[in-house]
Amino acid sequence: MVSRTIPVDCFDLVLFGATGDLAARKILPSLYRRFLAGQMPEDARIIGAARSEMDDQGFRDLVSKALKEFVSKGKRDADTIDAFLAQCHYITIDATGDAGWSQLKGMMRDGVVKAFYFSVAPSLFGALAERLRGHGIACEDSRLVVEKPFGTDLATAKQLNADLAASFDEHQVYRIDHFLGKETVQNLMAVRFANVLFEPLWNERYIDHVQITVAETVGVEGRGAYYDKSGAMRDMVQNHLMQLLCLTAMEPPTRFEPDMLRDEKLKVIHALDPMAPSDIVRGQYKAGEQASYVEHAENPESRTESFIALKVGISNWRWKGVPFYLRTGKRMSRRLSEIVVQFKETPHSIFEREGHVPANALTIRLQPDEGMDLSMTIKEPGPGGMRLVNVPLDMTFADALGPDGEEIPDAYERLIMDVIRGNQTLFMRGDEVEAAWAWTDPIIKGWVERRAQPYKYAQGTSGPEEALALMHRDGRRWRDLTEE
Ligand code: NAP
Repeated sequence: MVSRTIPVDCFDLVLFGATGDLAARKILPSLYRRFLAGQMPEDARIIGAARSEMDDQGFRDLVSKALKEFVSKGKRDADTIDAFLAQCHYITIDATGDAGWSQLKGMMRDGVVKAFYFSVAPSLFGALAERLRGHGIACEDSRLVVEKPFGTDLATAKQLNADLAASFDEHQVYRIDHFLGKETVQNLMAVRFANVLFEPLWNERYIDHVQITVAETVGVEGRGAYYDKSGAMRDMVQNHLMQLLCLTAMEPPTRFEPDMLRDEKLKVIHALDPMAPSDIVRGQYKAGEQASYVEHAENPESRTESFIALKVGISNWRWKGVPFYLRTGKRMSRRLSEIVVQFKETPHSIFEREGHVPANALTIRLQPDEGMDLSMTIKEPGPGGMRLVNVPLDMTFADALGPDGEEIPDAYERLIMDVIRGNQTLFMRGDEVEAAWAWTDPIIKGWVERRAQPYKYAQGTSGPEEALALMHRDGRRWRDLTEE
């Protein structure tokens, strides 16, 4: 199989927050894996930046420790790690201070891609952007990468956008939503728009409903205090689930170009119906194998949701009357992220005597085992007459690539390389983020005003019973989380 790794241009990537958790867990290991794949040019540099005092060697020790912890053993080769570390440098800098900036300017090279990754608290974005511009470190074609959360409501998101816009153009800003970097998410677009099969059926005439699930088995332990100010709606729905909904529901863009795609996603957000309280179920996990949510959050009075299920309507020609059911939660029975497009039943069944013919469903799985399957009804093989059986046409990407295929890169690997290539397709635009908050804000405001209490649910389940009822009352059911 021909290698699909295309080297990128030489770059200087300044990683603010280089001593932090995300850098160790995701960003540095992803850069290392791209280095290992031969994608990182020999003279590209990663310049770590944070307040901690250390020299290049101190930073290399830190990176080496992170790689040991977060890169699988089979991928850790001493010579390769040494070569990678030689490309790592460090500078001590305080985002809110004045020291260190002229030194950073002196380190930057002309004629290479300059990228600045803000893996720090969003409250520092404005200060960093201002100093990078003010000290002449960033230029017209430099790129800024910013992490989630991008605001906690519309007002804060607008402020962050304004802070960045004061120093940088929108075409320079890369807002990360790592769900968009998943292989499956891009494949959803390929399947929809590169095949003639699905698009004619992709509408209210043939689709009964869509369900999007992002279920986690972990709780909020360790980050309870932070999470308690956020909750599932802000932490997951406003960004990740919203992006999945948009990619499933959007119209075909004229071309596969960043702004054309993002225009189409934005139109979907604008077409979302306002939410009625009866279409929202919020939950909070009870004490079980582990402590309860309120204990983890260290707030016995907390009304924050660790689970949410919503029935969302889209008012446009394609989707009128087709509900999109979204759910996400912590401490659920299984770790699973998937989109299920449930088609309608055939208008008339000629197989009445052979029993019920289940409708087709296209499942797009983001984790685990990225892939897609289409459930089809066929005749059971053999001489036993016309017996029908429902089988999945399975396309697990890792298998489809074949034994000598490359491993699917982590979302962060793809997204960071896209930044270096200058491709914004898989990043959120400022107006998209604001529109998503404009839809989310009144929902949150509603339950705050009503002092709505979340339903309690047992750990290791599918969430509260009321979430099941949200679909049952429409004669539908959630995909069983225990089903393979
Ligand atoms: P963290 O572990 O607290 O790290 C924060 C980093 O910022 C450290 O390197 C810290 O280093 C640096 N820093 C703090 N104040 C600074 C200042 N005034 N000037 C320069 N550097 C400063 O946080 P994190 O978990 O890595 O998260 C970073 C960002 O990513 C946050 O916005 C977070 O919401 C987001 N995020 C994190 C995760 C995750 O899994 N961790 C996932 C998604 C998004 P010094 O103390 O040495 O300055």
